[in-house]
Amino acid sequence: MMNATVEQQYDALKKRMERATSKVGRRVEEIHVIAVTKYVSIQTANEAIKAGISHIGENRLEGLLEKKAVIGDGATWHFIGSLQSRKAKDVIGHISVLHSLDRLSLAKEVQKRLVEREKTLDCFVQVNVSGETSKSGLAPEEVDSFIMALAEYDRIRVIGLMTMAPYAENAEETRPHFKALKQLQQRIADKEYVHAPCTELSMGMSNDFEVAVEEGATYIRIGTILVGNEQVSE
Ligand SMILES: *Cc1c(COP(=O)(O)O)cnc(C)c1O
Repeated sequence: MMNATVEQQYDALKKRMERATSKVGRRVEEIHVIAVTKYVSIQTANEAIKAGISHIGENRLEGLLEKKAVIGDGATWHFIGSLQSRKAKDVIGHISVLHSLDRLSLAKEVQKRLVEREKTLDCFVQVNVSGETSKSGLAPEEVDSFIMALAEYDRIRVIGLMTMAPYAENAEETRPHFKALKQLQQRIADKEYVHAPCTELSMGMSNDFEVAVEEGATYIRIGTILVGNEQVSE
């Protein structure tokens, strides 16, 4: 059972974002909050919308379709999970942002589906900064050449880099990973690729978003502390 409402949890989150941004001279408005609704019901996702959150993140096609059927264009839809190439066809038509572009075979499939739909898509390239084997994403040293190769897929716009830091009891331990992603993002942005402005950073989750915000996150992906996790009752 959740005690606090989504609205109350959003207020608490904003206060914590306020503190984290003011520590480093940033503004809360620079950061987009994505409510990750993968663990919760359509009803709870709707509460997030009512609370004023406009970005929703899902990591599975089924969850995306289920919630989008009800909420529709009342939100901007983000796909944050690993995407199997065979599912790209179905996902692409329903999202505004893909956070998990991590291989050329996927880029090729995404491009093909975008051409069919006469669409372009904002994408994050996912990077496995920590090197943890359980995490998906490119190794940092692969990112430059991967992004150069994406120039061939003109429907894909690389707006930034995304990472998931390893879970750490003490969030401070995630800082080097976020710093490394920021450096990599800046280096690519400096190249001013037309297809890859790469100005954004998707990093920070319930457990570590304050550190991510301090290190330059522009999109944070928040599930548990915002909309809850109905799979584990508290
Ligand atoms: C589940 C998930 C999140 C949100 O996780 P919380 O710890 O519940 O905030 C963020 N990003 C990705 C990629 C996820 O899969």
